[in-house]
Amino acid sequence: MTNVFIISAPSGSGKSTLVNEIRQTVPNLSFSISYTTRKERGHEQNGREYFFISRKQFEEMIRNQEFLEYATVFETDYYGTALRFLQQAEEQGCDLLLDIDVQGAAQIKHKIPDAVSIFILPPNRIELEKRLRERGQDSEEKIQRRLETASREIENYDKYDYILVNDRLDDSIQALQSILLAERLKHSGVREQRSAEDDNMLARAERCRLNNVRERLQPILASFATTAAR
Ligand code: 5GP
Repeated sequence: MTNVFIISAPSGSGKSTLVNEIRQTVPNLSFSISYTTRKERGHEQNGREYFFISRKQFEEMIRNQEFLEYATVFETDYYGTALRFLQQAEEQGCDLLLDIDVQGAAQIKHKIPDAVSIFILPPNRIELEKRLRERGQDSEEKIQRRLETASREIENYDKYDYILVNDRLDDSIQALQSILLAERLKHSGVREQRSAEDDNMLARAERCRLNNVRERLQPILASFATTAAR
C-alpha cells in the first residue's frame, strides 16, 4: 500500500531544506514534482524543482483531468500535483511525498482520507520574516504577500495530523523522519517484535501529533495574529 504524506508550510519556514533531507534519508519514498505557472527562480531547473508551464498548458492539463489536485497559490499562479506521480509510486511500491499548500492538502485529504498530513511552522512571525529576507529571493511586495499568506495558512494548522515547529533543524529532521517511519510501521500491520528504537521513534512522532502540541502553539499563533491585525 502506498502511504501518501503531505507536507505544508508557510513559505520561508524551512520546508524545502527538510523535504530535501527527508528525500535523501528515507528509503522508498517518491517525490511528486509539481506543475506551476509561476516563473522559474534563478537556481531552479525545469523538471527538478517544478515543471514550469504556461497557463494555457496548465488549463489544458486541468481539462484532461491530469491533476490529483491543483490550486491557485498567492492569488496569482497555478500549482498542481499530477495524478501520474501517485500511479508511479503505486507501481513501484513506494510511498509518495507531496509538498503542497493548504488548499491542495484539503483536496488530497478528501480524495485519500488515509493520507498523513504534516504542517511545518516557523518558531514565530519575526523569525519567518527574517528568513524570507535572508533568502533574498523576493521583492518587498512579494515578502509582504508571503507574510499575509502565511498568517492565513497558519490558521489551518488544526486540519493537519502532525505539527512540526521548525526551531532547530536537526531536531526537525529527526522528528519528520520519525513521523514518516512511524506511520509506515502502523500501516504495515506489523505489531510484534518492535525494537526499543521503534518505540523511541513512535514516541518522537507522537509528540508532534496535533493534540500533543496545541499548548506549545499558542505563542506562535499569537505572534501571527498580532501582525495580521495591524
Ligand atoms: P514556491 O513558489 O515558494 O515554490 O511555492 C509556493 C507554495 O506552493 C508552497 O506553499 C508550496 O507548498 C505550494 N505548492 C507547490 N506545489 C504545489 C502543488 O502541486 N499543489 C499545491 N496545491 N500547492 C503547491
